[in-house]
Order: sequence, then structure tokens, then C-alpha cells
Amino acid sequence: MELKKCKNCGVFINSNADYCTTCANTLYYNNTILKGYFDSTREFSDSISTISSHTGVSPSIVENYMVENNMIDSSTLEKTSFANLPY
Ligand SMILES: [Zn+2]
Repeated sequence: MELKKCKNCGVFINSNADYCTTCANTLYYNNTILKGYFDSTREFSDSISTISSHTGVSPSIVENYMVENNMIDSSTLEKTSFANLPY
């Protein structure tokens, strides 16, 4: 049986899921927060760091959420923008 690693924290997981149970729950919770944020503001010009500070969701998760929902294009992201943040 192939062992997979959680895409988020790297622990081995014994299923076909991409994330371990802990991370899946955290991501689900964060996605719920972000969905509520975007539903209430309808403001898509906020920067990732602004959204992060408003919601308390880490920038990398905000970024993934926006890419997955086609709010931003991953190829146009400023790769260096979070390089100095302690995440
Ligand atoms: Zn994990």
C-alpha cells in the first residue's frame, strides 16, 4: 500500500486523501471563513495579506483558496511577497 504525505504538514496518511484529518478540518474551517469573507465583502481587489489580517487565515491558505476559485492566476502571483513573513 502506498503511503501518502499530507500536502500541508507532511505527516504520512493512510488513505487516498490529500491531507491528514487535522489539516483537512483546518482547511475546511478556513475555507468556510474565507467563503464568508468574500460573500460579505464582494471585494476581490484586497491583497492576500489584507484578507489574511481580516480573517486570521494564513496567507498561503488564502492564496490557495483564491487560486482554486479562480480569483487570482497562480502564474501572476508575486512569489516574493511572503518570503519574509514567519509562516
Ligand atoms: Zn496535515
